[in-house]
Amino acid sequence: MQQQYQAYGQQPPQVSLATGEKFRQKVDTNVFQVSMACLKDQATEIATGDPITCSACSGILNVYSEIKVEGDAQQVWICEFCNTRNVVNIEPEEKPKTDAVSYILEAAPVKSEAEKKEEKTTGGVNKDISIVFCVDVSGSMAGSRLQAVQQTMRNQIKDMYENHPDRKIGIVTFTDDVRIIGDGTAAVTIIDAGKLHDYDFILKHAVVGASTSLSRGIKDTRAKVDQAVNNLRATGSTALGPGMLAAIGLAGEGSPGSQVIVCTDGASNMGLNDPAFYSRVGEYAQGKGVTVHIVTFQGTECNIDMISTVCQMTNGEIERVSLHDLASNFKDFLAKPVLATLVKLKVKLHSGLEFRNEMVQNLSMQNTILSKDFGNVNEDTDVCFEYQMKPLRELLKIKDIDFSKLQQLPFQAQIHYTALDGSKQVRVITNRLDISTDKEDLKKDADFQILGINAIQQSSKLARVGEFKQAQAVAKAWDKVMTRDTAQLSCNQMAEVQNFRSNIGQTYNLMHQQQVMTSQQPQQYGQRAQVSDAVSQNMYQAARINKSKWTKSSK
Ligand SMILES: [Zn+2]
Repeated sequence: MQQQYQAYGQQPPQVSLATGEKFRQKVDTNVFQVSMACLKDQATEIATGDPITCSACSGILNVYSEIKVEGDAQQVWICEFCNTRNVVNIEPEEKPKTDAVSYILEAAPVKSEAEKKEEKTTGGVNKDISIVFCVDVSGSMAGSRLQAVQQTMRNQIKDMYENHPDRKIGIVTFTDDVRIIGDGTAAVTIIDAGKLHDYDFILKHAVVGASTSLSRGIKDTRAKVDQAVNNLRATGSTALGPGMLAAIGLAGEGSPGSQVIVCTDGASNMGLNDPAFYSRVGEYAQGKGVTVHIVTFQGTECNIDMISTVCQMTNGEIERVSLHDLASNFKDFLAKPVLATLVKLKVKLHSGLEFRNEMVQNLSMQNTILSKDFGNVNEDTDVCFEYQMKPLRELLKIKDIDFSKLQQLPFQAQIHYTALDGSKQVRVITNRLDISTDKEDLKKDADFQILGINAIQQSSKLARVGEFKQAQAVAKAWDKVMTRDTAQLSCNQMAEVQNFRSNIGQTYNLMHQQQVMTSQQPQQYGQRAQVSDAVSQNMYQAARINKSKWTKSSK
């Protein structure tokens, strides 16, 4: 551990986009942050076709690459990540001119004549997203819980009627059966108890049902949707898994970026409900560009640990709320539109560096490439990474590179995604960083917000896999690092230390409680301790902390 916290971040380089907005990807010596907000704007530089990739290390030719001409006009690119000699064939105007370039790998699908015609008659407005409310109407919801959900739905419907009249709003309910109500304009499809174990049956009915029961914007359907909300009655058990599947099937027929909000107060106890099922549902939602959020009530247990897979795979939120806070949470979910779907991030390091504290299965190319799957992203999706110099014995194996002479190291983020128009793109962002040996100098400029967000993401990542003791140690170590020499800190850094402490406070306490509890109950080898919803939800959200939440909770 002591080795890991020696170096500090420094002020990240920023790149201005044509829009004048600051590009928010950040790099510093020890912690690296990639913000998906960059996908909000098209890169200033757009290239068609595939990027040029190093044959040895998968680094992509970029604005900093040098191309030499050898012998008979042969172009050679010595890869700045690994020193491999690549013969290339590139026109001068094809070489990237800025550090953020978008490559369009596959153009948006051509619209059929029928689609064009439909767009003309509807003014192209039928392309808005679908929002499906997936509501638990089991017996335990009767009374104030269901009333609060109904009131919140009415408010959201009114809001979307006024501000997003073309959004399609649908309802799926689950209890002893699953009911695909859609927007209330067509007959309700009932999946009864006998079919709740049949994945294909449920999905097929939801997908087919979408064309009749969820095909029009809220501006045309409001009265029927409101009526369906008013008619909800609570009774029976909780077929949460099948209900979620039906809601995703319905939303998946809407435009990419559609959303499902599951609202429940109990664990699934009917029909499909095991870890493999939730992975399968998550994969389906990912493929359709649907984000799944879950809202549960404080004081209830819904086995969030198991169902969180679907949220994790689609980058959705999980909240445990009081009746009073329900409305504001629904609003938050819908406030941030999805920017891209099927997002896969690759981060590329120089061959002398390696990632640390990452899962082995996400690493490749001698630990210099980290791959991460996001499903859908919005502007708040920020991810932090840590890296370090490789050990000396590894560095000695790397021939042709004299590390004592290196002045700068390249970093590259390669973001593969499907844009909302259906085109497949990769955004390549390359930064270079000066190598500084003066640690005090670095600390002066360290961005404590990035260090703090990273510390919370890293610590809760460990807690989510049951390593509560280690998670606490990581949180403590970062706190120590940031406050080792408070006299040297700037006001801004001091403020961020306070932010860090207020952000991690509750999470740290929960880790501690859980760790004490786990140590008192001897576990079978390899068996994971039962984790309460309070802990699952908190660790899930902490692992996804971003700049927007960081600042919110500090106010
Ligand atoms: Zn290379």
